[in-house]
Amino acid sequence: MSYLGAHLSSAGGFYKMGQAALSIGADTFQCFLRNPRGARAKTVDLSDVERLRVLLEENRFGPFVAHAPYIMNPCSKDEGIRGLAAEMMAGDLAVLEGLPGNYYNFHPGSHVGQGMETGCRMIADMLNAVLKPEQQTVVLLETMAGKGSEVGGRFEDLAAILSQVELSDKMGICLDTCHVSDAGYDIIHNLDGVLEDLDRVVGLNRLKAVHINDSMNPPGARKDRHAKIGEGTLGLETILAVIDHPALRHLPFILETPNDTPGHGRELAMLRQELEKRKSA
Ligand code: FE
Ligand code: FE
Ligand code: ZN
Repeated sequence: MSYLGAHLSSAGGFYKMGQAALSIGADTFQCFLRNPRGARAKTVDLSDVERLRVLLEENRFGPFVAHAPYIMNPCSKDEGIRGLAAEMMAGDLAVLEGLPGNYYNFHPGSHVGQGMETGCRMIADMLNAVLKPEQQTVVLLETMAGKGSEVGGRFEDLAAILSQVELSDKMGICLDTCHVSDAGYDIIHNLDGVLEDLDRVVGLNRLKAVHINDSMNPPGARKDRHAKIGEGTLGLETILAVIDHPALRHLPFILETPNDTPGHGRELAMLRQELEKRKSA
């Protein structure tokens, strides 16, 4: 059975978040390690981190995903903003050393007119400055909707970044179902074809986590507006086909749908029930 979970608020601390995950029947989750729109890290309570580590181990959680703040842009024109991105990532990765074996996902960034090639190089430069050989976290590039000058709307963008990162074994990718559809990859009618594409360009072995979101917009819209499962253009069947795909099944699947935690719990229960039905069908 796949690991299923949702994006949770970390406002009450790490251990409380683990309890929230348990309360909705999740065995993975995603969270921010700091305010998603602000740069300042809160002081981290190491004993709280340790209590979460034990809770996750005792309850046999799959790997979880820490999400970088949205304001991070490692391919900004502004050197100060690029420096801040490196600082935030280094700080977050230091916290994650207390929770070894998990993932750190980030939006590659927006090249703001500098071009895709320059954007990809700047992102790789940051990673080469921040990644450490001894770190126990794998850093994931998220597939993006390709809005504006966003890097990561094409699998080729991710491949270009990965090819320039020295500590390549510390890197992976995270597939977002809303984003790839918005970017124009037809996972509704041709999931196998999209995964073949991903395998050819990036390598399926790089894929470490999946964001399961429906989309408010038609394929190719380059918009990035998430919808609840079954309430968007992808539909329940597409999401189930992703979770139940033989090449993906073993991964953590995380909801980032517009819902609160109890709502995410209901979506998870519905997904588990539908997956059971598929198994016995
Ligand atoms: Fe994201
Ligand atoms: Fe996402
Ligand atoms: Zn999104």
